[in-house]
Amino acid sequence: MPEKFDVIVVGAGPSGNAATYTAAKAGLKVLQVERGESPGAKNVQGAILYSDALEKIIPDFRDDAPLERHLIEQRMWMLDDDSYVGSTYRSQAFNTPPYNRYTIIRAQFDRWFSSKVQQAGALVICETTVTGLHMDGNCVVGIQTDRIGGSVYADAVILADGVNSLLAKKAGFHPELRARDVALAVKEIHFLPDTTIESRFNIGPEEGVAIEMAGKITRGMVGTGFLYTNKESLTLGVGCLLSDLRTHRISPHALIEQMKAHPAIRPLIEGGEMKEYSAHLIPEGGYNAIPRIHGDGWMMVGDAGMFVNSAHREGSNLAMTTGRLAAQTVVELRREGKAFTAANLARYRTKLEDSFVMKDLKKYRDMPAVLENNPQFFTQYPELINRAAHTMLLVDGADKRSKERAVRQSFVGKRSRLGLLGDAFKLWRAFE
Ligand SMILES: Cc1cc2nc3c(=O)[nH]c(=O)nc-3n(C[C@H](O)[C@H](O)[C@H](O)COP(=O)(O)OP(=O)(O)OC[C@H]3O[C@@H](n4cnc5c(N)ncnc54)[C@H](O)[C@@H]3O)c2cc1C
Repeated sequence: MPEKFDVIVVGAGPSGNAATYTAAKAGLKVLQVERGESPGAKNVQGAILYSDALEKIIPDFRDDAPLERHLIEQRMWMLDDDSYVGSTYRSQAFNTPPYNRYTIIRAQFDRWFSSKVQQAGALVICETTVTGLHMDGNCVVGIQTDRIGGSVYADAVILADGVNSLLAKKAGFHPELRARDVALAVKEIHFLPDTTIESRFNIGPEEGVAIEMAGKITRGMVGTGFLYTNKESLTLGVGCLLSDLRTHRISPHALIEQMKAHPAIRPLIEGGEMKEYSAHLIPEGGYNAIPRIHGDGWMMVGDAGMFVNSAHREGSNLAMTTGRLAAQTVVELRREGKAFTAANLARYRTKLEDSFVMKDLKKYRDMPAVLENNPQFFTQYPELINRAAHTMLLVDGADKRSKERAVRQSFVGKRSRLGLLGDAFKLWRAFE
């Protein structure tokens, strides 16, 4: 191992792999350290991959990346206790290459991405935990690992160690995570024959469906659920703000059990063999919760920097984009012969501000607070909307005008006219 590297990257998730690949491909001497026994070993499985972010790093990734199904259909469900009101978008355009979104199994995908990182020339060391950062004054100059004699030095360190970055906390780069800024999600993988999945979801081989869910499945807590089709398995999960889970004293395990028993979900997973269960935090504080993301000799990327767009359930694409932009900053500065000072690394922030990452996070900056302070969006509205659908669709001899009046009264009775107007304004504020 050389004594000193140009860049050290901590973590081999999507953000770390993107950063390491980009820097190594540009000819820098890069070390990547991952605590898992292999890249992806510690990562929660089953997810949606957004092609665009990866294409900008590895344009021909489709040639050999382990992809499950490309998504041709997106469903959005608002669930009551035993019904849902939903919308579906299915498109032949999404069924025409190059495909825009795929389901993947993270353990396989991360291993593949890591093989590309190694081919690009980076040194990847697994089963090694970075326990601290070496500082020279305010400047990060290297890392301490849990190996004997495990100090390694570099001109720049990129922290890609995921949500709740212990290293950043220890170094005082950001404070303790607030429970209202993270969701705890649980996820299961249920195995089924591919033909069963295809007939249940009305799709052909390699085609996939994503279902995003909100409503009473989270029992009034801020959160969502999801179900994705893989080749021979389904991934389903549910997550809620940690602060809400604590206040309501509900375990995520209880939530997923309840979700699986919902009459709209049970038939989709019936007969499946559950082989994996995992839980993980998701940073959901949004733009207002982004910590300091660069300083002298260091940058922070991916989940460690709170880069998740929870409104659209996008995380890995922000992770890869922040990783790529951080590495590009290092590459550019090195070519220009400039030092990796905080002032120079501010270029990373500028790149982020110019990209969809900060633009999207800024757009939804008010959303976390609006949702957190208005539980009616997760309780009363799913119930009112489902009941309204039931009332209007039930053919029972009542005339339609009377039904419409009953629906109106149910909304006003629960929220009042002013309350309804206020809620509409809050939603507009959260999503505009
Ligand atoms: C249940 C769930 C479902 C999700 N679904 C989607 C989805 O469908 N689509 C999507 O785009 N995003 C999804 N996300 C979000 C997405 O997974 C994350 O945004 C993304 O993984 C962030 O990548 P990362 O590289 O920053 O962090 P991570 O993927 O968490 O990787 C961090 C890596 O750093 C390593 N590490 C940590 N500390 C150390 C240390 N001290 N020393 C050495 N190594 C260390 C870890 O072992 C890990 O491998 C989901 C998240 C969850 C929890």
